[in-house]
Amino acid sequence: AKRQGRSRAEVFDDVLRAQLAERAELEAAIAAGLTNGEMELHYQPVVDVADDRVSGYEALIRWQRPGHGWVAPDDFIPVAEASSLICDLDRWVLHEATRQLAEWRRVHPAAPDTPEPTMAVNISGRHLADRSVVQDVADVLAASGLPPALLVLEVTETVLVDAPAALDNLAALRALGTSVAIDDFGTGYTSIGQLRHMPVDTLKIDRSFIGSAEPGHEELVALIIRAAHTFGLTVVAEGVEEPAQLVRLLADGCDHAQGYLLHRPLTAADAGALLARVRST
Ligand code: C2E
Ligand code: CA
Ligand code: CA
Ligand code: CA
Repeated sequence: AKRQGRSRAEVFDDVLRAQLAERAELEAAIAAGLTNGEMELHYQPVVDVADDRVSGYEALIRWQRPGHGWVAPDDFIPVAEASSLICDLDRWVLHEATRQLAEWRRVHPAAPDTPEPTMAVNISGRHLADRSVVQDVADVLAASGLPPALLVLEVTETVLVDAPAALDNLAALRALGTSVAIDDFGTGYTSIGQLRHMPVDTLKIDRSFIGSAEPGHEELVALIIRAAHTFGLTVVAEGVEEPAQLVRLLADGCDHAQGYLLHRPLTAADAGALLARVRST
């Protein structure tokens, strides 16, 4: 035979086709997972640095894909974000997280004059830039009956810089009374000075800063906390894993902390049990 096998271009074509097919298959599986109840939320407590109190939770999605076991969010959220599927996913998370917090408030009511825990939900950039987001949030607030201030919407800084539509929607969301947090702060290109103009309530410092041993990073964290406070923002430190980090954050006046040192993301049952324990003491 003249040809000894397939050409490079043919092989490349096949690889590309296989990747596209795999992606389409994953998209279909995510969509099916949403309708079939394969998704669940875990809740990572956020703690008040000064008094150890659980001040709120972040809802984190988990997917048990049939035949694949648990799939990590980083392995399917980016695929969902490539299409409007992410809006369906966000909507499901919003609905479930607010329903859960409303249930916890009913079952474990707070004593008078004690602050209520908040629920933070990750909103993807695509959904935030979509007109549907404002109605979606209004719908879950109405369905759950939650005070809007207890819902925290986590958005990334790039979204605020790149998409004017997202900024308009954010204003409308805050007008509903929800709180907004910048997630993963420090990983994008926002300068500390730009914080002044950001229509947000809370800053979450990315865990790459908190866990870093690089010279100058501790000073940078202290600076970010100080600047954020100057602009009236509350600060959450993400990814706290070491006691020394917590000591330092307390000295820097950081408001809240989240990380494996304090609590791992918990199942709904474990997070509810934690709340019951806190409420009964
Ligand atoms: P994120 O919003 O920055 O969420 C925090 C991630 O850090 C979570 O990973 C959490 O388990 C992990 N984490 C918490 N404490 C520590 C710590 O002390 N050390 C370390 N190394 N990691 C810690 P997870 O649950 O795998 O989520 C990864 C990302 O997936 C999230 O990053 C978020 O961008 C996205 N994601 C998760 N759930 C949702 C969701 O419901 N909707 C959307 N749109 N995105 C989600
Ligand atoms: Ca987040
Ligand atoms: Ca984060
Ligand atoms: Ca992230």
